[in-house]
Amino acid sequence: MSDHPLESGLIDPERFGTVDRVTDGVSMLHGFANVAFVFGRGVVLVADTSAEAMGPRAVDALRALTEEPIRALVYTHGHVDHTGGAPFFLADARKRGHADPQIWAHEGILERFERYLRTWAWNNEVNRRQFSMPKGAHVFPTSFVKPTHTYRDRATISLGTEAIELRHARGETDDATWIWLPTRRVAIVGDLLIHSMPNTGNPNKPQRYTLGWAEALEAIAAESPAHLVPGHGAPVSGPLAIEMLSETARALRFLHDAVLDRLNAGRWPDEIVSEGIRLPRDLEAKPYLQPVYGCAPFVVRDVLRAYAGWWDGRPAELLPAPRGLVAGDLLDLIGEDALVDRVRALLGTREPKRALHLAAVLHEARPDDVDAHRLFADVLRAVAAAEPSFIARNFYEAAARPRDLE
Ligand SMILES: [Zn+2]
Repeated sequence: MSDHPLESGLIDPERFGTVDRVTDGVSMLHGFANVAFVFGRGVVLVADTSAEAMGPRAVDALRALTEEPIRALVYTHGHVDHTGGAPFFLADARKRGHADPQIWAHEGILERFERYLRTWAWNNEVNRRQFSMPKGAHVFPTSFVKPTHTYRDRATISLGTEAIELRHARGETDDATWIWLPTRRVAIVGDLLIHSMPNTGNPNKPQRYTLGWAEALEAIAAESPAHLVPGHGAPVSGPLAIEMLSETARALRFLHDAVLDRLNAGRWPDEIVSEGIRLPRDLEAKPYLQPVYGCAPFVVRDVLRAYAGWWDGRPAELLPAPRGLVAGDLLDLIGEDALVDRVRALLGTREPKRALHLAAVLHEARPDDVDAHRLFADVLRAVAAAEPSFIARNFYEAAARPRDLE
């Protein structure tokens, strides 16, 4: 199965490219990512710009709503699906003879953009695998429109007579901003809310902030917003808005505290991962906490990484012998036929994750063996087929592809 952002579970394909009215003077374009427009009082605030490919549609969506000049673009964080469309908004302002908009972001975004350029090829590969793009595809930008205005903890922007507040948070990123419109009781929250289990612990991305994320959601809930505009998925209004904020915060705190309690009780990270900590049943059943993008096991990893570094506690993994030699020793002892038989038996009893550990021994002992890779790929596809998380599924699928295509 091939997964595109449209199949990520974060987007309703029928609503992609459409605009929702959130409340008077606030609308949202469904994109990857969403773009919010605050307008009707003489000037416009644009929250996020979507990805580069979506930029022209985002500008068209704004101009179907209003001719007002853009006073400010605000990045809710530096991820490329939120910042890539900025050049198109600047071009629109210049074409209309308007002043350049102010571009606001948390100050941490500048270091992020520098890191993205320093690690371009790595980020391009991670995103290509994460979004199931073909080998050689360039999916990561090579330039960024920097903010003209940054802040550290809080800032206020004047939109005509309206004061709009920017608040810093650490959640999916260290440079997150949520935007609070007190007079309209709207919170534009970026990826702090995405209609999925939060995406902390993304496997190949830097540290994320499970506890800070919970605190940010609680701070937003404390303002009692009537409407939420998320970074992905549909806007939310009424009592559900407060419920989603507080229950998502509760889920993150539960996982955070569960990991920390075990670390403080002397358990090793590997033991904690193996235990398979799950959310309480009532939280696990919430439609907005389903593991369609992020998932609880990745959150557990995020918390472990934040507090306990990279060593999982298994002595053999501290300064390991070359993996291929170890796999060769195991294969010699087990015998290829017995190993393949057990892999097929585990696939037959729908235990593909157990089968994957064994198939990996064969593949690692014989990395150039076509048959070993074929078996490995069969198992990976079986694991992927049963996996609800878009991110995990695509990483399994990428590993299953033949080397010359992957
Ligand atoms: Zn996003």
